[in-house]
Amino acid sequence: MSEQPLAPIRPDSGPITNGLSVDVEDWFQVGAFENTIDRATWDSLDDRVERNVDAILALFADADVKATFFTLGWVARRHGPLMRRIAAEGHELASHGWDHARVFTMTRQDFAEDIRKARQEIEDASGAAVIGYRAPSFSIDQRTPWAHAELAEQGYVYSSSVAPIAHDHYGWREAPRFAFRPLAENELLEIPVTTAEFAGRRLAAGGGGFFRVLPYGFSRWAIRQVNRREQRPAVFYFHPWEIDPGQPRVQGAPLKSRLRHYTKLDVMGDKLRQLVREFAWGRVDELAARESARAVDLVA
Ligand SMILES: [Zn+2]
Repeated sequence: MSEQPLAPIRPDSGPITNGLSVDVEDWFQVGAFENTIDRATWDSLDDRVERNVDAILALFADADVKATFFTLGWVARRHGPLMRRIAAEGHELASHGWDHARVFTMTRQDFAEDIRKARQEIEDASGAAVIGYRAPSFSIDQRTPWAHAELAEQGYVYSSSVAPIAHDHYGWREAPRFAFRPLAENELLEIPVTTAEFAGRRLAAGGGGFFRVLPYGFSRWAIRQVNRREQRPAVFYFHPWEIDPGQPRVQGAPLKSRLRHYTKLDVMGDKLRQLVREFAWGRVDELAARESARAVDLVA
């Protein structure tokens, strides 16, 4: 990651602390390549997640921000010391499921097993309690009416697994844009990833490829809109492989997937440094606690 002149420290911080999150998975575990790379080969592939997460920890320490690391159980099993470093630096460890299977491809029973196993592994590896969950590829939607109930049953406090947009791979268009209670009989909170509204359209604005591919100014505009006009916190996410221009190139994946995955990896570090300095950020569990009083009930 190259250096560039930094923006002044958090001129926009105001009263609102946004949620900063990292979905901890390696370059070969992403949804874009799930039909190209066989899970059975994962252990033979170049393991780059640890060095990339260490670079992210350094970036966060430089900016003095804390965040939530939604981590695959598969990664936690192989990187115990890394899990302990994340926790020791004051960040939250939460679950991203076991091996990135999307929730709508599972039965409730499979899902129950997946999240139980992942949580156990992350807690054992880190020594920290896990209370939050993020579905791989925001895959909780209309197809998975049992998912929030299963999370509640296993004692999770919050989920950040819904993208309230229509997207080609995911999305639950009718879901509320800010914190809501998906269950009538339980306090479990859903904290959707951030969207912005512009000219009657709803745009994904919470990170991932959108942040990396579009100019930085779009994300700045969107987060300002949410903080200033709507007076709500944004929830932002990115991945360790997005700061890694040296990752192996996957052959045979669809062109669209490859374009999305490899565009502007080299500028991601600088964009992130600007983002973390320009707004106020914190852990998602703390954001959930603050948002709890304002959460709406989901009307089924
Ligand atoms: Zn993921």
